[in-house]
Amino acid sequence: MLIRAGRVIDVAGDRLADIRTGSDGKIVAVEPHLHGRPGEEVFEAGGLLVIPGGVDAHTHLNLPVGAARASDDFASGTIAAAIGGTTTVVDYVTAYRGEEPREALATWRRWAEPAAIDVGLHMTFTEAVSESTVVACIEQGVTSFKLYMAYPDSLQVDDGVILDVMQSAGRHGGLVTLHAENGSAIERLRRQAVSAGRSAVIEHARTRPAILEAEAITRAAALADVAGTPVYIVHVSSAPALAAVRLAQERGISMVAETCPQYLHLNEAVLLGPDGADFVCTPPLREAWHQEELWEGLARGTIHTVATDHCPFTTAERRAGIRGRPEGFADFTEIPGGLPGIETRLALVWEGVNHGRITIADWVRLCAEAPARTFGLWPTKGSLMVGADADVVVWDAAAEQPLTAGALHMRTDHSPYAGRIARGWPRLVLARGRVVSRDGIFCGQAGWGRYLPRSPRPGALG
Ligand SMILES: [Zn+2]
Repeated sequence: MLIRAGRVIDVAGDRLADIRTGSDGKIVAVEPHLHGRPGEEVFEAGGLLVIPGGVDAHTHLNLPVGAARASDDFASGTIAAAIGGTTTVVDYVTAYRGEEPREALATWRRWAEPAAIDVGLHMTFTEAVSESTVVACIEQGVTSFKLYMAYPDSLQVDDGVILDVMQSAGRHGGLVTLHAENGSAIERLRRQAVSAGRSAVIEHARTRPAILEAEAITRAAALADVAGTPVYIVHVSSAPALAAVRLAQERGISMVAETCPQYLHLNEAVLLGPDGADFVCTPPLREAWHQEELWEGLARGTIHTVATDHCPFTTAERRAGIRGRPEGFADFTEIPGGLPGIETRLALVWEGVNHGRITIADWVRLCAEAPARTFGLWPTKGSLMVGADADVVVWDAAAEQPLTAGALHMRTDHSPYAGRIARGWPRLVLARGRVVSRDGIFCGQAGWGRYLPRSPRPGALG
């Protein structure tokens, strides 16, 4: 295929060029004035942007959450991703307590088989592990390890385990990613709220104050400093958390930070509304003023990546809660947390370009290049270099896309952005050279996606 006369933007710059993709699914040429060959499809991209396919480094497809399960599996979720311009996802495997990480990984690899785009996997440990377990994961191309500083009943590990995994991952070129919230303090606040009869949805936010996110990030920075390793903080959601990241970076700690579109566009007031349960995610949505600071953090480079934490549920599943009560959840602690987002990420970050908060180059870096570099996929993913995978998005900055659930493809019946219209949407999306979406219509194939073994020793950006 030949994509002609587009404005091509990636790490190599911002220029008018043509892109040729080969039958091997790779990019074979990026230069001006290429001529179409017999049998080659030519896509005229004049007036449009041409960027590397998006890399979403934080998804939870098919994840079981109590009695509920994330409503997108790897088939439906990756189709929605492709339509929105994301051609690679890195999903989080969870090895629950008492479970062999190797077996959890095998389960996720099986779940991922119907994916329409390429899939890498992170591993989540929920208890202490041996160094040989870390090494075994890296040998299978799983080079990043998530640890939770929250959810003491199920997922949280203590600081000793965090230090231990940082050290063993660090020795073998792996990277630790942290859910940074002080889970023990939050658990107390939640119990206090419930026993005082404060059961409303807004209590989800009130019992997870931003200062306890900032505290955990500061602690994470200290542990990374002691371990002598980089660390990646998932879903930075608040101004105090951002300040803690900046302080760590100023002290010379290699801290890479991620945020998500929901923290850039939504605020906690929605939790007070009749559909408040549909907006429960963790960390919670914050007051509106935090958003401005997070955009600033993206523009300054304090935050390096935007991922989604995609974990959708249907309204009925949310109402039934994690205990699956037909009569509905008893209080805010029973609402499954997570928002849909895998399809709308590029468009919602692009809004920052529309409003002059970030540049087009920032947008490409945040959504594709930086996550690929951080997680050992660069330059095969996240770049338009000759020899890279032909994951290409042709972006129409003038296209208008309603963000209601009915106009999107994620498998859920509500949208956090309902009523909004995004300005900017993909016209054409290629995944390893194959057209997977054209004008918002999926035309790829389930199972086209491959498992992506990732390289150790990612070039840390922090
Ligand atoms: Zn997550």
